[in-house]
Amino acid sequence: MATEKQENLTGNGVQILPKQETNTGDRYSGIRESRPFTYSDCGGNSVQLAGEFRKRCLKMADRSFSQGLQCQQINSMSALMSMDDSVFIVHSPQGCAGCSSMASDLYRVGQAHRGVRFIKNVKLIVTNLDERDIVHGGENKLKEAILLAYSRYSPKLIFIFTSCASGIIGDDVDSIAAEVQKQISSIIVPIHCEGFKSKIAASGYDTAFISIRRYILGNQKVPKEAGLINLFAPTTVSYKDQLEIERMLSLIGLHANYFPFYSSLEKIKKITAAEASTAICKVFADEFMKELENDYGIPFAHTVMPIGMRNTDTWFRGVAALAGKAKEAEDYIAKEHQRIIPLIESIRRRLENKRVFICGGTGRSFAAAALIDDFGMKLVGLETPTFDDDAQKDIEYLNGIHGDYVIDIANMQPFEQINLVKKLKPDVFIGVPAWSARLGIPTTHVLDMKRPTMGYDGLVYLGNKIANQIENPGFNVKLAAHARLPYKESWYKDDAFKFIKSFGQ
Ligand code: SF4
Repeated sequence: MATEKQENLTGNGVQILPKQETNTGDRYSGIRESRPFTYSDCGGNSVQLAGEFRKRCLKMADRSFSQGLQCQQINSMSALMSMDDSVFIVHSPQGCAGCSSMASDLYRVGQAHRGVRFIKNVKLIVTNLDERDIVHGGENKLKEAILLAYSRYSPKLIFIFTSCASGIIGDDVDSIAAEVQKQISSIIVPIHCEGFKSKIAASGYDTAFISIRRYILGNQKVPKEAGLINLFAPTTVSYKDQLEIERMLSLIGLHANYFPFYSSLEKIKKITAAEASTAICKVFADEFMKELENDYGIPFAHTVMPIGMRNTDTWFRGVAALAGKAKEAEDYIAKEHQRIIPLIESIRRRLENKRVFICGGTGRSFAAAALIDDFGMKLVGLETPTFDDDAQKDIEYLNGIHGDYVIDIANMQPFEQINLVKKLKPDVFIGVPAWSARLGIPTTHVLDMKRPTMGYDGLVYLGNKIANQIENPGFNVKLAAHARLPYKESWYKDDAFKFIKSFGQ
């Protein structure tokens, strides 16, 4: 076991930390439900829910009927699938890998935006667990898949994503990885993202980061690089947004280790060289940044997603405070307000007083709810996956500007969304539009993975986008005339939250 005396620099500048630093005994499990006062099933009036949460009177609950839950595995996969020189093994039946098409599409589009001439596909191998493996175990298939990945591609990294099936049959993925690791030079990284472990899809991000910490960063610590900041960003951030955020950081003397989108083993190893960390999304890497602070003394700014005026100000102030550049940040914010406010006046005239229903992941949904205030719009409903201490801050802020509105704490659950949207009759729906579009109302998204949405100019783009959708609802009107939602009329008259059952504190 390493001791204090071994904490010295090796020839290549890598510092070995004492072994006890990696003790995983009381570490965060990667399951968001394990964090205190975290709720994934509740609904009601925003002011009432915030009041109950403040007094710690919100009851734990579950849904007695559930529909269309997003699995955490896809978030683990999408977080890592643009990693350079890597192969991704999904240890599951074929269906689990179906969602990877989204991450694969983002990877290809992202390469085009970054000027890559010969666009590559994700290298994905599915072990295709079947009935026989469920009875006899799938460990041999996994071993074969790792060796195949190595012989075919010889990558720097091989990621293994577990699934419900591999978890239920108890395949010992860590032991297999350790055994095969002796035979190959690629670093094998198991990601324990069995879908059944968490109802909160963001747990998938945490699980991916825990494995990066455990299997790659380990005990190593490299010398600090002046001005380097880890910029954690989910796959849903466009290249334009990456450039804008990096530009803003450069104004306060920082340069980014942008991670994990379009990243590499080399960039992973640079994580501990950073002087600070921040994230573009509120839930992405928040637990990992805490670990980096505890284990490597890297401070972090955890605020909001920089979408809309208020959130961009807040995000930039948070990072500038870390860098000791608060004055420079205030000067920049004042200059940008002067430039942007006249630009959003004309958008405001098109959007003022429009009623909005928002549905999205925690970071984007709260950011969108703050953004619409820039245009004088009114929030009537908000669907978001988690209610916790962090969400409470946003909900209280939103209650202050929008008054009360309906909150649905749900991972997908289209039946609840449709019930609420039909009753609330918003002028526009912002978020995942697959279901609400069929009601014929205008729908749009702030989750635009291909265009600029962040920072002050992103605000202008999003405002115009929302206004254009409201003024051109033709597609959804036609869709409503021809597409059918699967619910009976009686459901729309029922209580949207009737299947949420409280069961204690
Ligand atoms: S891991 Fe589980 S929840 Fe996720 S897609 Fe596979 S079976 Fe479904």
